[in-house]
Amino acid sequence: MKILKFGGTSVGTSDRFKALVNLVADEESKLVVLSAMAGMTDTLVEIIEFLYQNKKKNATGVINASKKKYYRIIDELYVSDEWKKKATEMVDSHFAYIMSFTFKIFTKLQEKAILAQGELISTALFHYLLNEQKIDSVLISALNFMRIDKDGEPDYFYIRENLERELEKVKGAKFFITQGYICRNVYGEVDNLKRGGSDYTASIIGSVVNAEEVQIWTDINGFRNNDPRYVDNTRVIHELSFDEAAELAYFGAKILHPTSIFPCKEKNIPVRLKNTLNPDDPGTLITDKYSEQGIKAIAAKDGIIVIKIKSTRMLLAYGFLKRVFEIFEIYKTSIDMITTSEVAVSLTVDNPMYLKEIENELRKFGIVEIEKGQSIICVVGDFFAERKGYTLRILNALKEIPIRMISYGGSWYNISVLINTKHKKQALQTLNDHLFNCK
Ligand code: ASP
Ligand code: MG
Repeated sequence: MKILKFGGTSVGTSDRFKALVNLVADEESKLVVLSAMAGMTDTLVEIIEFLYQNKKKNATGVINASKKKYYRIIDELYVSDEWKKKATEMVDSHFAYIMSFTFKIFTKLQEKAILAQGELISTALFHYLLNEQKIDSVLISALNFMRIDKDGEPDYFYIRENLERELEKVKGAKFFITQGYICRNVYGEVDNLKRGGSDYTASIIGSVVNAEEVQIWTDINGFRNNDPRYVDNTRVIHELSFDEAAELAYFGAKILHPTSIFPCKEKNIPVRLKNTLNPDDPGTLITDKYSEQGIKAIAAKDGIIVIKIKSTRMLLAYGFLKRVFEIFEIYKTSIDMITTSEVAVSLTVDNPMYLKEIENELRKFGIVEIEKGQSIICVVGDFFAERKGYTLRILNALKEIPIRMISYGGSWYNISVLINTKHKKQALQTLNDHLFNCK
C-alpha cells in the first residue's frame, strides 16, 4: 500500500478537489491523508483567539464567513442535490459545534477540538465527492487510531493495533482516506501533531503499515537546492538521502515537516515529494542512498536567538556543560547549534517561550548575552570526502558576510553558519553563485 498525503493547497478550491479525484482514482491500494483546506487552520486559530479574548461577536463573524466559503465550495463541487444536501448538513454540524463554544467558558482542551474541524471537514468533502462519482473509498477517522503519548510523541503500539483493527473492519477495500494532523492524547482527548503535522501523520502511518512508499504532495516540484523566494537560478533535487532531507527540512526548507522523515527512515520506506500541479514531474525521492558526494542544497532558518555564557571560573570544570544543558531540558527548549571556547559557550535556540527564565538560570554561571534576529544558513550534502575542500569553498563564498558561529563536523551531511538575518539574502545568493553556478 502507498500513503499519499495532500496539503491544504491541494484541496484549496473546488477545482483542486476535482483534480485530486483524477489523481488518485486508480486501481492501486492506497491511503490518502488530507490536510484542512488551505487557510482553514489559520481561520480556526483566529476564532480561538477571539474566544480567549471573549470577543464573541468577532468569533461569530469569522465562523459565519468561513461557513459561507464552504457553501460556495459545495455548490461547485457536487453535481447532484443529494450530495449537495449531505455535504451542507455535514458542514453545518461542524460549524454548529464550533459555534457552541461561543456560549461556553473556553479552555485549552476545547482549543484542540476546534482545531480538528478543518481536517474533519476536508476529508468528508472528499469522501462525498468520491461517493458521488461512484468511486469506492473508506473514510477512517484518525481519531480512532492516531494517538500521542504523555510526551506528545506518537504511540506506535496503539496506532498499529487500532489502525489494523480499522482496516480489518473493511477487508477487501483498497482506497482509504484519513485526516492528517489530528489525533488523541493519553487521556483520549482530541489533540494534534502541531502545525504542519499532516506530513508526520502520513509517515507515521507509512511506518506502521510498512508502506511501499510515502508520497507528500504539495504545489511545488520537490526540494530545491536553494530558497527561490530569495535566490535566482534554483533547481529541484531529484534524489536525497533521509539524513540530508532531515537536515534540510529542519533548517528551513518548508516543503516537509522536519520530524516526518524519521518514521520512514527507521523502516527504510521511500518518501517521494510530488507536485499536484505538475503530477508527471518525478519530484524528489528520499531514500537511504547517498546519490553523490558534494554540496546539494542550501536552506535558511530565521528567528534564531544566540545565547552566550561567559564564565572564567567554570567553563573548564567538567560537568559545566551538563548543568547548562539541564536548564534547557527543564524548559523544554531545544538547542540547534553550539560552539565553545575556553571562556565562553554560545548556543542557539529558536523557541523564545522560556527565554527570560533560561537567562535568569544561566546568570548563575556567568555573564549571559542574548542576541535575536539571527539566521542559520545550512549547507547540506555528502561531505564525507572533505579532502575536496567543501568547507573552504563555503567560507570563501561568505567572505563578505560577518559570521557569528560555525558548526562543522556534527554530521557528514551539514555545515551550518549563523549570521544576522539582515545578511541572509546576500548569503543565500552568494552561496548559490559560488557553489552551484561556479562563479
Ligand atoms: N492543517 C494543519 C496546519 O495547517 C496541518 C497541516 O496542514 O499539515 O497546520
Ligand atoms: Mg505542510
